[in-house]
Amino acid sequence: MPNVAFINGAFMPLAEAKVSIEDRGFQFGDGIYEVIRTYKGRPFAIEAHLARLDRSALALSLTQPYSRAEWADHVMEGIRRAAYPEAKVYIQITRGVAPRDHAYSDEVTPTVVMTVREFHPLDRSVQAAGVEAMTIEDIRWGRCDIKSVNLLANVLARQQVKQAQVFEAILVNAGLVTEGAISNVMVVQGGTVVTAPEGPRILPGVTRAVVLDLALSEGLPIQERFVSQADLYEADEVFLTGTTVEVLAVVRIDGKVIGDGRPGPITQRLAAGFTSRVG
Ligand code: PLP
Repeated sequence: MPNVAFINGAFMPLAEAKVSIEDRGFQFGDGIYEVIRTYKGRPFAIEAHLARLDRSALALSLTQPYSRAEWADHVMEGIRRAAYPEAKVYIQITRGVAPRDHAYSDEVTPTVVMTVREFHPLDRSVQAAGVEAMTIEDIRWGRCDIKSVNLLANVLARQQVKQAQVFEAILVNAGLVTEGAISNVMVVQGGTVVTAPEGPRILPGVTRAVVLDLALSEGLPIQERFVSQADLYEADEVFLTGTTVEVLAVVRIDGKVIGDGRPGPITQRLAAGFTSRVG
């Protein structure tokens, strides 16, 4: 079967999947999502992703139509039907279909969508060399902890990244680094791994939590605090974490070389540790 879609309980080919133009996800971005990838055909950290989906739903008073066990069944079934070597599962819940009005009624039934596509991991040579990033002003709203489909600021940032031919945008809010447009950002300062604290300014990344746990278990000191844009350029190492990027060294930011311009020892250690955790 090619790319698989699931809408409100039914599986179908992606090309046949449709939702109403009156869906509030389409009209207002009134919805939430998750992205889960597989390793050796198994979804990684599915419990953490489904827990975050529940948290996002709760934050928007969105009725979560399935229990975690039901979601896990649907995800496994989608992966089985798509039958790719590795898959990327996208889950979206929007408030549902209703005549356009900003305020909503509790009667609306959520629209539930899942797609399963082939996942192509990053080229090993990109992992080995590290990537370039650019800083962009963080113009997002005040609840970045909710994984909302309202992604306009991220869309604009990623388009700038594409035009600049770099890999990721590092978002800066009032001089402080928050996260990437599609990843969390960590820096290494004198052997300590530092990353922005959980809270309304960042998405609590599933990979971020795994990597912080890994750092602790390796005896590396960690600090959850904001670093300034100036500290970012001066860091010994900078890396990104995320479902699609895993642990990825950033070796140049805004044209400035980070450390010695190659993935640093702590980044390499955490990347290797991460690989063994997912395998
Ligand atoms: N921050 C943002 C803004 C993201 O969009 C993502 C992933 O899509 C992440 C962080 C990383 O989160 P995770 O590790 O759960 O994929």
